[in-house]
Amino acid sequence: MRHQPLVIGNWKMNLDYVEALHLGQQIGVMLKNKPVEHVDIVLAPPFVDIRSVTSIVESEKIPVEVAAQHVNANENGAHTGEVSVSMLKRLNVTWVLVGHSERRSMYAMDDATVSATLRHALRGGLRVVLCVGEALEIREADDQDEFVRTQLVSALKGIDARFHELLSVAYEPIWAIGTGRTATSEQVASMTAHIRNVLSSLGVDAARVLYGGSVNTENAATIVREGLVDGFLVGGASLKAESFLSIVQSCDDCYDGKR
Ligand code: PEP
Repeated sequence: MRHQPLVIGNWKMNLDYVEALHLGQQIGVMLKNKPVEHVDIVLAPPFVDIRSVTSIVESEKIPVEVAAQHVNANENGAHTGEVSVSMLKRLNVTWVLVGHSERRSMYAMDDATVSATLRHALRGGLRVVLCVGEALEIREADDQDEFVRTQLVSALKGIDARFHELLSVAYEPIWAIGTGRTATSEQVASMTAHIRNVLSSLGVDAARVLYGGSVNTENAATIVREGLVDGFLVGGASLKAESFLSIVQSCDDCYDGKR
């Protein structure tokens, strides 16, 4: 592992603020009982839960950071239902997911909007996780490398070098998200190497490359070891403290074992 691992729990549109507080508390207690040494842990609750989660994280000194699942590409104004970078920063949010496939496919987020959002979030000082990944028909046609390359170039071309350290990339094949069908370690390793090459050609060598798609307690250790990723973006399995922290632990063990 070239970087300290990063594991992000994407709670999607699950858990109201009371449930979110409860999960945050559980994670805090478990981390206190069994500290994790080498993993950066990030929680991405729904917008309406963020205040509760950042409050408990701060008051209980829980060693996690908080992400938003989405942000608008504009600073303020007539964007009903949207949230801005400065609003998030005011809540001590330090990370944001950009271009999750559910935003791309269900909320018409095209490559141009992904690029504009990413640049706006970086300029505002947020750490960005750019999500990329192909649909099943693209994988079946063996066009995944070119598809992901196009997504990366469109989002990252020309990004000022001072923002590079704020960037991570999550490879999330759409056919593996929430389906229980995980990419094989070979598929993950091959795509991770491809993404690193594309990033390198864009001058963005420092970015961590994560995998997401039905990661769970059973498959995490193998994927992190053989898939050569720097961590995970976790959906379903992040909704329970035990499964989420077991995935975190797999990354910690892998990092420790390779040092
Ligand atoms: C995700 O939504 O980013 C994700 C990877 O979900 P899941 O782990 O449930 O497949």
